[in-house]
Amino acid sequence: MSTSILIVEDENIVARDLQYALEDLGYAVPAIAKTGSLAIQKASELQPDLILMDIRLLGEMDGIAAAQAILERLDVPIVYLTAHSDDNTLTRSKLTHPYGYLIKPFEERELRAVVEVALYKHEMEQRLKENAQWLSTVLNSIGDGVLTTDVEGCITMLNPVAENITGWSCQEALGRPSTDVFKLIHETSRKTVSNPIDEALSTGKTVIIPALTILVRKDRTEVPIEDSVAPITFYRGTVPIQDGKGHITGAVVIFRDVTQQRLSAKKLHRYAFYDSLTNLPNRAWFRERLTDALERSNRKSDYLFAVLLLDLDRFKTINDSLGHLAGDRLLIAVADRLLRSSRTVDTVSRLGGDEFAILLECLKTEQEAFTVAQRIHHELSAPFHLEGQEVFTNASIGIVLSSAGYEQIEELIRDADIAMYRAKAQGKGRYQIFDAHMRDQAVASSKLEQDLQHALERGQLEVYYQPIVSLTTQKTVSFEALVRWNHPQKGMLSAGEFIPMAEETGLCMLIDWWILKEACTQMNQWQQSSEWSTLCLNVNLSAKQVIQANSIGQISQILSDAEIDPKCLTLEITETTLIEKPELAAKTLKQFTNLGVGLSLDDFGTGYSSLSHLQRFPVKSLKIDRSFVSKMDLDAGSLEIVRAIILLGKTLGIITVAEGIETVAQMHLLQEMGCDYGQGYYFSKPLPKTEVSNWLQLA
Ligand code: C2E
Ligand code: MG
Ligand code: MG
Repeated sequence: MSTSILIVEDENIVARDLQYALEDLGYAVPAIAKTGSLAIQKASELQPDLILMDIRLLGEMDGIAAAQAILERLDVPIVYLTAHSDDNTLTRSKLTHPYGYLIKPFEERELRAVVEVALYKHEMEQRLKENAQWLSTVLNSIGDGVLTTDVEGCITMLNPVAENITGWSCQEALGRPSTDVFKLIHETSRKTVSNPIDEALSTGKTVIIPALTILVRKDRTEVPIEDSVAPITFYRGTVPIQDGKGHITGAVVIFRDVTQQRLSAKKLHRYAFYDSLTNLPNRAWFRERLTDALERSNRKSDYLFAVLLLDLDRFKTINDSLGHLAGDRLLIAVADRLLRSSRTVDTVSRLGGDEFAILLECLKTEQEAFTVAQRIHHELSAPFHLEGQEVFTNASIGIVLSSAGYEQIEELIRDADIAMYRAKAQGKGRYQIFDAHMRDQAVASSKLEQDLQHALERGQLEVYYQPIVSLTTQKTVSFEALVRWNHPQKGMLSAGEFIPMAEETGLCMLIDWWILKEACTQMNQWQQSSEWSTLCLNVNLSAKQVIQANSIGQISQILSDAEIDPKCLTLEITETTLIEKPELAAKTLKQFTNLGVGLSLDDFGTGYSSLSHLQRFPVKSLKIDRSFVSKMDLDAGSLEIVRAIILLGKTLGIITVAEGIETVAQMHLLQEMGCDYGQGYYFSKPLPKTEVSNWLQLA
């Protein structure tokens, strides 16, 4: 189909000439309009590809006014025909954006050139318009915010999503510096993030918006965003030049609201790095922070930090006696008090169970670490209220200072652990700073542990016997069997030096059965002599042993093998034995007494000293702990405790035995108070079996 051109010309001859000329050139001329109004009508009827419009027309409307009316409805290129053009007319005509002028009279060559250029220009404009429309549809429909700036960094466009995210309308934002509209801060430091638009404009490179960036919206609310800024480069010529010779005309920012992603990332982070019970950072997070601190202190010699490792005292007992729910509540309350005792820069974390760790950073002096430990002890010393009861606990704290110079966090944690155990061993509620000497001791004790594994099979264990004497007749009524370890390098070790370790490793059970067997066999020999046939034996039994399966079977077997009357045997247990598995313990202990064996509560006064234990378990005697007896003549409090225990024994019909009598004064006091039996260096130290007959003969 040929290109159609509408001619608007009031002079017939000119119009006809034009028509012929155009038809000669291959265009179609579907109509000629003589007046403005006719031109408007024909244009809308015929929708021509171009209009040749005479400016001067007969009637009320001239060509410019007609063109204006047509352009309101149609997108058609208009070329004016004019004979003479005054400035005023030209200015008016320009407002209609004409595609060209033909000055009458003109030649066919000119006509063709003007018409072709006008058609080409119009087609190009059409394509540009389509492109722009396509682009704006894309920008309006994508889910990302798009913002563009000019080369000065002033806003030139915001798409609807960008309007939404920033809170600025495109209208308001236009021409403003990008920093007004695209204000960025860092999520945690809250510092302004250096403007990525400026950077893209100055470097000509794509810039990624840094992680954890937050956009401050127009109403000052905040939204986390991510994505990138790219420079817009303009290339002269048709093909982009690859060598970067184009010049930068602005920047385009593509960004999106990542509130949801960041929330889920945070949730994941919490899950991986926080303890769900106390909400404190967990072991993994603590290790991360510790690694950072160690690296920093290795880079900066004056950077000082400390690690406090805490273990709650008596937690297991509280947990077992009040239940796990109460135990959980205690841990939460402790976490709270630990946070109160530390500064915001410190990392308070729960490593697991009742173990906590605190990383103290940016210390000015080492003294600060001790101050925190003291503050923790003070905070924890107040009672906790659980299940309607007042519960007391405290923590043993091991402290390690970065100034000791560590390469690995494992070494540091190991040393904090050693220091913490040392603090625990020194009595509860204490803190201890690690020193290298301790490590040597820890190594030595682990060596000792290995040695102990072989002590039994190598025949290094021996039973010593300490007399238990009647305070009324001064006669020996029984012997307590106490284990000794004849260590090849260290010489004779007393039970206190290795039994706690044996209890931890479980070796204790093997040792105890061996001691019981050995001591019973020995007792049988002594009883052969008619003089000593009523002599008794006390043997210590660990908690684990009591609740061990078939402990009753083992005991009766040993007794019958040794041919000993069960009435001669008293088993010494501590109150912890009754706490851990009370039902099982009660059942087993009852079976022991059914067998005829006596039960004695050892170290009475140091633990729970619970009346209900005395009622619930078939206890024959109480052993008053050495710590009270030894201080009794100097300390009124200890004396009163001893008096109370003796009184308690009398009331309940339980025999009382005082441990650790070292002086005659102590013995007299005990006699006066009516204590039944006594044991201690005042009478005799624990004796090897070879010296027992000697003792018995002298006594
Ligand atoms: P225990 O049953 O209270 O034993 C008394 C401890 O006090 C013994 O220490 C004894 O040597 C010490 N002792 C006695 N009189 C005096 C005194 O006048 N002054 C001083 N300073 N100490 C005195 P040992 O033998 O080191 O035993 C410590 C603990 O180890 C015992 O405390 C007992 O609980 C445990 N034990 C000892 N032998 C065995 C055993 O064969 N099996 C088990 N499971 N535990 C044992
Ligand atoms: Mg004992
Ligand atoms: Mg004792």
